[in-house]
Amino acid sequence: MASVIAHSLLPEVQQFLESGVKKGFVGGKEVEASNSETFFTKDPGSGATLAEVVALQANDVDLAIDAANLAFKKQAWARLAPNDRSAMLHRLADGIEKHKAIIGQIEALDAGKLEAHAQGDVQNCADTLRYFADLYQHARMRTTLAVKGHDAWTSRQPWGACGFIFPWNFPFLLIGWGIAPALAAGNTVVIKPAEDTPLSTIYLAHLAQEVGIPDGVINVVPGYGTVAGAALAASGKIKRMSFTGSPEVGRLVGEACGRNLVPVKLELGGKGAAVVFDDVDIEQTAQKLVGAITFHTGQVCCDATRWFVHKKIYDRFVGECVDRLKAVQIGYQMDSNTQMGPVVSAKQRQRVLNYLTKGKAEGAECILEGGIAEVEGFEGHYVKPALLAGSIDNVAAREEIFGPVAFLSPFDSEEQAVEMVNHTDYGLANSVWTSDLNRAARIAEGMCAGNSWINAHNVFPHGVPYAGINKSGMGGGVNSIETLFDYLRSISVVRPL
Ligand code: NAD
Repeated sequence: MASVIAHSLLPEVQQFLESGVKKGFVGGKEVEASNSETFFTKDPGSGATLAEVVALQANDVDLAIDAANLAFKKQAWARLAPNDRSAMLHRLADGIEKHKAIIGQIEALDAGKLEAHAQGDVQNCADTLRYFADLYQHARMRTTLAVKGHDAWTSRQPWGACGFIFPWNFPFLLIGWGIAPALAAGNTVVIKPAEDTPLSTIYLAHLAQEVGIPDGVINVVPGYGTVAGAALAASGKIKRMSFTGSPEVGRLVGEACGRNLVPVKLELGGKGAAVVFDDVDIEQTAQKLVGAITFHTGQVCCDATRWFVHKKIYDRFVGECVDRLKAVQIGYQMDSNTQMGPVVSAKQRQRVLNYLTKGKAEGAECILEGGIAEVEGFEGHYVKPALLAGSIDNVAAREEIFGPVAFLSPFDSEEQAVEMVNHTDYGLANSVWTSDLNRAARIAEGMCAGNSWINAHNVFPHGVPYAGINKSGMGGGVNSIETLFDYLRSISVVRPL
């Protein structure tokens, strides 16, 4: 199948793609669907079929949850001495780094990512594993309580089998953000990758076994969201659930978990804003926001998709952005000259085009038209970047598009800017751009979302909590000590003296 891809691949990648149907991974063994159903995953940049993948059914997912519970009960993982478990996670990180070029290429092909970006995601996954492996060893697991007449303490314990459902935009990076804290804390996991991008997750399961992670600790259940994903979310045998994806599906997952009283974390969409004051370096700021909206072709939940620009610099700023966006090199993701690759699927491209049409129909000014982009020799899902402007009530300013489209509006006071930012149902991440750091801090705290950035957008150092509020999520976040504690339940122990 891989022979149809018009690009030279690493021999290991070629071999992986040509090694037959990609199976699920349960209890350390490859598994097929009980009804033999499969689906095909494609290269978004060329349309070529990459691999045939098993579509696991509800009963197959149930077996995977049993395998995760059994591995937890056997205590081969949870009862490892913390430094031994940490050493194993470092070994997994070593394995990921050793195979970075291979995983990066698989990810780039499957998700339509630029190869360098995909490799960055792979490195990030390894870094996240190391961060939580080390953090666990230093976090306080037992706290003595000063209570009159009693010997008392609290202690943190892993939950057991944890479920994870992931989207297609950052498959490998998000796996790290998701499962690293759970594994470091001693839990076992069942992972449902997105049907558009299952390959790097399947590769990881094999790698984990190779480096010695015990069987059943990491289980992978590829399949359709409405079947495999829904079965995972509806299982009362999962002790903790994590979903990353759209608010629409997030609600379904939240409802299903609620019925079983399973704690759930939802990390959902966004409609982030960037507030640009008149004291910025206009060229530099334009460059950074153009970089943010074209990064992974705008398929980034925390992107700045609403740009509020001080009216004194609005026209100049818009001009700088238009020039830069017109110059963005659109092309096949594996071509080293490409600056912006395809979107993930025909469905996603149609979604972007529909929002451009609906936005204009509702009266948005079209500063840069966008639309379908042709890339010679490739039948992929390419779009051009677009800029719209106008009322913040426009559909393109309100709803998540998930493509390289920004919506601009001018403002003339600090208060007005904050009001415009907060005019949304979402609450994921926003940024403020100014050389006045006092003003930056005021605005950063006034913007109603889980995360605010100053003079930058998309900043994720390990150790800084990242989570959404409102329609962007609930129930916890990623990448901090709070995330580790989410994967440990706290119990109290007391003895009257
Ligand atoms: P999606 O909600 O369509 O799918 C996400 C996952 O849910 C997939 O694995 C899918 O198979 C599964 N799924 C679909 N229907 C299901 C059901 N009924 N029950 C259980 N699982 C089901 O989202 P997507 O299109 O893959 O991803 C894009 C969305 O993800 C955007 O809204 C984006 O903002 C969001 N996202 C959020 C974050 C964050 O950190 N907050 C990160 C990345 C992506």
